[in-house]
Amino acid sequence: MDTLSAPSPTGPPNFYGLSRGLLADRLAGQGLPPYRADQIFSWVYQKHRRSPDGMTNLPTALRERLEALCELRLPEVATVLGTRDALTHKFVLGLADGARVESVAMRTEKRLTFCVSSQVGCALKCTFCATGLMGLQRNLTAAEIVAQVVAMGDFHGWQDDRFNLVFMGMGEPLANYQPMMEAIRILHDPLGIHLGARRVTVSTSGIVPQIRRLAGEGLPLGLAVSLHATTDALRDRLVPLNRRWPLAELLAAARDYGRRTGRRVTLEYTLLAGVNDRDEDAVRLGAIARDLPSKINLIPYNPVPGLQWQRPTPESVDAFAKRLWPMAPAVTVRHTQGGEIWAACGQLGGLA
Ligand code: SAH
Ligand code: SF4
Repeated sequence: MDTLSAPSPTGPPNFYGLSRGLLADRLAGQGLPPYRADQIFSWVYQKHRRSPDGMTNLPTALRERLEALCELRLPEVATVLGTRDALTHKFVLGLADGARVESVAMRTEKRLTFCVSSQVGCALKCTFCATGLMGLQRNLTAAEIVAQVVAMGDFHGWQDDRFNLVFMGMGEPLANYQPMMEAIRILHDPLGIHLGARRVTVSTSGIVPQIRRLAGEGLPLGLAVSLHATTDALRDRLVPLNRRWPLAELLAAARDYGRRTGRRVTLEYTLLAGVNDRDEDAVRLGAIARDLPSKINLIPYNPVPGLQWQRPTPESVDAFAKRLWPMAPAVTVRHTQGGEIWAACGQLGGLA
């Protein structure tokens, strides 16, 4: 058995990992028609029922049997930590095998964004990331990815139907491709949460063949590429995966992704003082962004205990952004949310 996969459950499969089609197949085994799966989807994902009790349009016999057919319980929310301004919450979910997974919900005046994990830990060891320091414990299942969204939606009371979803929590989503895609399709189901593909962003450190595969899924998902450096020499040091797929290959795949999906790719660039925030870095980054074409998202480094990198001063971040403006079509600075609860980018790794 692949030891990095989630342990296979001994009981029934978890509901949150079943597409409506798979649920209908399980119900068909009991002689039930497919529209029962539609009804159950609607109860769970649209009316937010977490047990069969109130599913009044289902026959009593089905309500009684439902939990034997699929496990409806969500993982336990072990901890919720909120920032003082209550705009950011970090969730720690306890999974069936005792693993813990972290997710973050962020509110701004415009929108609610859920940031989910795709793995427990990460094998790729980018040198400034807390998750990379953990190593890879295991992949998450589709059910465990969907459950993070449902748990955060329940916490926020589903006041806001139109949230964004970003795969920027723990792990490299494209290294756990199939469960990630299954989760996205379940969340996208029109009889479920009906999350639009344009509201989903997959962030990758650069697994080139999987970027190409994602481009062929027929869904206009947002793609964010964690660039962080504009030369192979520096990127080899910061993102070890670059030794396998260097910049030229990564940028070619990102360009094709943009062409095939019609989506402008985002380049994420974590600013490390004195390392990648010099004037010549800005000039090269601007040229890359213009050439793709793409948006640039600057992320001032968030401190990770035990790591020696420094966050640039706000003035220096501002100067770097302004240097890009004449060259790059769209530059944003990701304002850190959640640093005080170890919930900012790159800080998920069992730190709190
Ligand atoms: N594994 C994926 C997604 C998760 S991380 C990826 O690497 O793209 C989301 C973003 O935060 C990535 O761009 C990542 O490189 C960046 N990041 C990691 N550690 C960081 C830190 N300490 N400070 C700021 N950004 C960081
Ligand atoms: Fe993994 Fe992304 Fe962290 Fe790199 S930045 S170690 S790919 S989670």
